[in-house]
Amino acid sequence: MAQHTVTLIPGDGIGPELTRAMTRVVEAAGVGIEWEVAEAGADVMDKYGTPLPEHVLESVRRNKVAIKGPITTPVGTGFRSVNVALRRELDLYACLRPAFSIRGSGARYDDIDLVIVRENTEDLYAGIEFAEGSDGAKRLIEFVAAEGAGTIRQDSGISLKPISIMRTQRIVRFAFDYAIANGRKKITAVHKANILKHSDGLFLRVAREVAEEYAGAGVEFEDYIVDATCMQLVLHPEWWDVLVLPNLYGDIVSDICAGLVGGLGIAPGANIGEECAVFEPVHGSAPKYAGKDVANPTAEILSATLMLKHLGETEAAERILNAVRAVIGEGTHVTYDIKRSVTGSTEGSVGTQAYADAIIGQL
Ligand code: NAD
Repeated sequence: MAQHTVTLIPGDGIGPELTRAMTRVVEAAGVGIEWEVAEAGADVMDKYGTPLPEHVLESVRRNKVAIKGPITTPVGTGFRSVNVALRRELDLYACLRPAFSIRGSGARYDDIDLVIVRENTEDLYAGIEFAEGSDGAKRLIEFVAAEGAGTIRQDSGISLKPISIMRTQRIVRFAFDYAIANGRKKITAVHKANILKHSDGLFLRVAREVAEEYAGAGVEFEDYIVDATCMQLVLHPEWWDVLVLPNLYGDIVSDICAGLVGGLGIAPGANIGEECAVFEPVHGSAPKYAGKDVANPTAEILSATLMLKHLGETEAAERILNAVRAVIGEGTHVTYDIKRSVTGSTEGSVGTQAYADAIIGQL
């Protein structure tokens, strides 16, 4: 009997084959899940007139938990990102991206264990933009000049960077609650407050205030400038524990961290709100590998372990993680990306489903 009902959004590109590998592993671990499949993305545009049909959102709202494969965002034309819309519609304000070393992944370091907590709803990703030459851009340029706030060239496109007290409070509180619940010892707030005084400056001020609320909770708090963070992450990745960042820096820094632990193929993620949580890998739909049974499903499978922990299935999550570690550590049944990182050649690599079979064999 299924103990949980979870919305499954297979996505497009490599998404369907990765989610198939993931559901096979989760089922083999003995967790009873009923997958409520909900399609989203370019392929459903014709049928529903939108890449994110209302019934998909309803399914996630009803089940409270979803796991998805990546979804392609057409560049330049077409719809805005389904991934961003999903996060916004469901107010999934916290993006959690753990980065930890897996022996045998071919990564440059073997002692990384950190967590990125990225604010998911505002900052430059709020989607408030004015096209070059538009009425809105012209009026904004006039307003800025009239305020004496600066001069913007007429031929500029403009994107706004709002950062609010409320949304900073809730993401920093999320980071502290996560740190306490998971035995983490330090939180670093990452910003560029020395230059962006009113957006990042607010983020830093509010983060410090929230840290005061948690004084005595056994979690150290510090702050770091984003560019220095990037350099020190590469030089000393073992220094870091939990990093809390505004949206844009969180996006960029989590890809740096994915690279430090062995690449996008093994970097899992979760988008969490008050009501719902949607789990997904950090990587995109890698269209050139779609349907070829070559992509690495580790990030999707590790996203499922985050989901299982969220559902209280901690033992199964640990068992899957240990099986992934065993297969990658052994190195004989790994996908092309890991093989190439370790040996410099893709020779001897296995496909997506054969890799999943090897994990199932270790459970
Ligand atoms: P991508 O992550 O899809 O791929 C970049 C490269 O990383 C690939 O060419 C491949 O070499 C490697 N890679 C990624 N995932 C891999 C895996 N599982 N196994 C092995 N190698 C892997 O990034 P992109 O090419 O910039 O984006 C492609 C599409 O995905 C775009 O439309 C983008 O908008 C979308 N996207 C979606 C999400 C999401 O659904 N959350 C996230 C990022 C990008």
